[in-house]
Order: sequence, then structure tokens, then C-alpha cells
Amino acid sequence: MKKRVIVTGFGLLMAAVVMTGFLVVWFSASAQDAIMKRVVASNVGGNEAVLDEDALHVVLCGTGSPMPDPDRAQACAIVYAGGKVFLVDSGLGGWDRLARFQLPVGGLTGILITHFHSDHISGIPDIALNSWASGRHEALALYGPPGIETVAQGFDLAYSLDDGYRIAHHGPEFFSEEGANYQPVVVNVPDRDTSVTVFEEDGVKITAFRVSHEPVDPAYGYRVDYKGRSVIFSGDTKKDANIAKFGQGADVLIHEALAAHMVGLLEDGLEHSGDRRAKVMHDIPDYHATPVQAAEAANEAGVKLLVYTHIVPRLPNALAERVFLRGVDGVRSDGVTIGYDGLYLELPAESEKIIEHDLR
Ligand SMILES: [Zn+2]
Ligand SMILES: [Zn+2]
Repeated sequence: MKKRVIVTGFGLLMAAVVMTGFLVVWFSASAQDAIMKRVVASNVGGNEAVLDEDALHVVLCGTGSPMPDPDRAQACAIVYAGGKVFLVDSGLGGWDRLARFQLPVGGLTGILITHFHSDHISGIPDIALNSWASGRHEALALYGPPGIETVAQGFDLAYSLDDGYRIAHHGPEFFSEEGANYQPVVVNVPDRDTSVTVFEEDGVKITAFRVSHEPVDPAYGYRVDYKGRSVIFSGDTKKDANIAKFGQGADVLIHEALAAHMVGLLEDGLEHSGDRRAKVMHDIPDYHATPVQAAEAANEAGVKLLVYTHIVPRLPNALAERVFLRGVDGVRSDGVTIGYDGLYLELPAESEKIIEHDLR
């Protein structure tokens, strides 16, 4: 009984201390500023590990689709290798994730665009502005299929007033005039049987190949090779033999996936309530791959790790993830993971290792 009184007394004392501390902070400007300074200090700086040139680094900064998803930004991945930095697609919300994970973007070399659906290009202006503010002085290179000039011209025009305000306010020494521009680089992949080298410098080699996303044509997948390590990005595609052909023996395959059996249920639900968007649910499975098909492609390519991205539909809990993966185990029981915003894969040079980090 006595012990309990002592414990209760101690508890009251602690509560009083906490309450007093809270009141001091609530009413004291200097205490608030001290806390803010500590928060700012802990948020400044970056995730410098990705700049280590003895590894190929890939971070997913957007694993969602055009469907609203509070947990996933639209298509976005970033690759760091040999001092080069490439974004693979730039959908809405990607910049938010890059900032949240404190990933350096000042040295952005370019953006590899797989195709021009909105969820792959809508984040370009945000990454352009923020890489410019972080120190990119040259025009931002946009690599993509024919049509990339139109996208570059459109963003250039739409943001020309904004660019002018930034330069006028902060000065051309900070925001270089050249940095406001885009440099579209048209990648011509002549046919399905050919891959084209998009970039080759300092040991970093990037190739593009065709995938199947009709009526979007051409649509590309990309492969990045560096110091004996490699990663393939499928872009948006239904199951395509080119993943195995041009991705043969790669370490990691980052493949889009749409669970047709779940989207079918969404279609039924929308249809039932008279929602015209049931048609969209009806139409989309024919130009995406299911999780099982992506697993088959990964096996055919012989990759070590398959990472699902561009996840459709939204997977709000473990049960939904289980339904999404239905049938995958029978095709590929190992080396499969559902990607998420903040998944960082580190592939040390000339090694077999794939180190997974969670930046969330
Ligand atoms: Zn698409
Ligand atoms: Zn897409």
C-alpha cells in the first residue's frame, strides 16, 4: 500500500514536470525558437550515402498510379551511379518524397521518361524547380520517345513566367538562366528487336527498349548498368518478352503491376452504382501486367529481385496486399517484394548483394 502511494506520488511529480515544461514552451518565444532550431538542424543536410560511387543506388520515390493513394506518389524512381543522377519518370508527388527522404537532387543529370501518360510527367516542373534551387545550373535533360520535345516545350511555356519571377527575386547567380530550360533528348528505338544506348559516361550505361502499352506507342523500358550491377525499369507495359530479352541477368527488375482480379471488383462496384468510371476499370487491364505476369517476366529475365511498382489498385492493408499477390507464390516464391515510396536498394559494385533500406 505504502509503495503504491510512493509510485503515485512519483507519477504526479513527473506529470507536474511535464506540464510545467509544456507551459514554458507554450508561452516562451525563446523556448519555441530553441526547439525550432533543433528541428531545422535535424532536417538540413542529406542522405549522402546514395552518392557513394562504389555502388548502384536506386530509390523508389513514387510507386502509385493515377488512382488517388495517400501512401504512394505517382511514378518516380531515382538512380545514383558514378556521380550521375537520373530520375526514371516524374509523376505527381515524387518531389515530395525526394524531399522527405532528404535525397540530393542538385546534381540531377536528367530524367528518363518511359512514356507520356500524365502520371509519368506531371511532377517534372517540381523536380525542375527544386533541382535548380539545389544547384543545377545547366538545362534539365529530358530523355524520352519522340514527343518529348512537345512535353518540354509545353512545360517551358507554362512555367516561363514563374521562372522569370524566381530569377528576378533571387538573382541569376542563384537561379542561373540556363537552369530554367529543358533540353529534350529524343530517343529513337527503331523497332522491338533493338535496344538503344541513351547515355554512357563514367561507367554508367543506360539503354532503352520498347514495351507494349498501346495505344501509347512507343513506350520504353530502361536498363541501367554500372560496375557489374544492373536494374531494369519496365515502364508501363502489359507482359512483354522484351523484359526478358533486354533485362536478361539483371539484378533487379522494377515492374509495374495491376491486379486485374481486384480491378474487376472495382468495375463491378462502380457499374452497380451507375458510376461512368466503371468503363475506365474495364479498359485498363489490357495494357498493364498482372503481378503474376510480372513474376513470370522476372523469372524469364533471370533477375535476382522483382519489385512491384505502379501499384493498382490501392493496397491499404495486409489483406489487400495478400489479395494483390494471389497466385504469385506459385510462379516465384522468392525474390519478390511490393515496392513502396522510400524503398532504397543499394547494389555494391562487382558483387551479388542487394541491400534493402527503408527511408520512411
Ligand atoms: Zn501509362
Ligand atoms: Zn502509368
